[in-house]
Amino acid sequence: MTDTRIPLAGVIGHPVAHSRSPLLHGHWLRTYGLRGHYIPMDIAPEKLEAAFRTLPDLGFVGVNVTIPHKEKVMEIADLVSDRATLIGAANTIIFRKDGKIHADNTDGYGFIENLRQGAPEWDPTAGPAMVLGAGGAARAVIASLLEVGVPEIRISNRTRDRAEQLREDFGARIRVVEWVQAGNAMADAALVVNSTSLGMVGKPELRVPLDGLRAGTVVTDLVYAPLETRLLKVARAQGCTCVDGLGMLIHQAVPGFERWFGQRPAVDDATRAAIL
Ligand code: NAP
Repeated sequence: MTDTRIPLAGVIGHPVAHSRSPLLHGHWLRTYGLRGHYIPMDIAPEKLEAAFRTLPDLGFVGVNVTIPHKEKVMEIADLVSDRATLIGAANTIIFRKDGKIHADNTDGYGFIENLRQGAPEWDPTAGPAMVLGAGGAARAVIASLLEVGVPEIRISNRTRDRAEQLREDFGARIRVVEWVQAGNAMADAALVVNSTSLGMVGKPELRVPLDGLRAGTVVTDLVYAPLETRLLKVARAQGCTCVDGLGMLIHQAVPGFERWFGQRPAVDDATRAAIL
């Protein structure tokens, strides 16, 4: 029997009101004239598993999960993709027709696709990448940079132990750089990434010295509020190619949307405008 129900998807967080995903998926559903709805759902951690057992019966084909559920969901899922296992967290869930719950992580994919779109000249194999931060987002960034062939990844984090842990988890191509040395380690990097929350509205500014940045270096910030962070402003003035973090947020949503609603969506100016 074919399923004639309108496909439902959504984002589960706690809280969830800040999420831009409903705007994004809503825009794509309207753009392509597709049947379907994408709904924000505030679900407390102790109710997460019960929600996951119920949602498929209600017509949900999948969900995104955000803070604080990205790790917990790995225990609930029946199948976990290799990249989600490597990162230790999932953000995209598929409720399969056979009843199995499949967990994937598309953050690294979104990160790389955003760079490919915003800095098409960037050659991953051309030189080292410098990553500021060692939190959850950094794990996805590092896994994806290793996958596309970056020869060396320098990680600098306020709490050095977290950077050391990443070296232990990801191996020989990782080099840990003291937080106070971060500025120096950017000088010959082909790519510089801010994966800390510094520079975000309401958070302290990123104070790493930036005068070592060379023209031609690709610089990207995962922070997208504001869109043009101080890092990107300074880097642009020094002749770097700058890529903002909004594109990563959009690109990471593409695989889920395609899987749930059957259409690969475009990432274009209209998409950006819809969620700004
Ligand atoms: P997280 O796990 O909480 O990690 C936060 C990172 O920021 C850690 O490395 C932390 O260093 C550092 N940090 C925080 N306050 C600091 C301070 N005062 N001085 C120095 N370092 C500080 O967060 P996350 O999930 O990795 O997310 C990081 C940022 O990326 C957030 O702004 C998030 O919104 C953004 N993000 C964007 C996208 C996108 O699609 N564009 C996707 C994912 C995340 P310590 O280890 O020393 O605490």
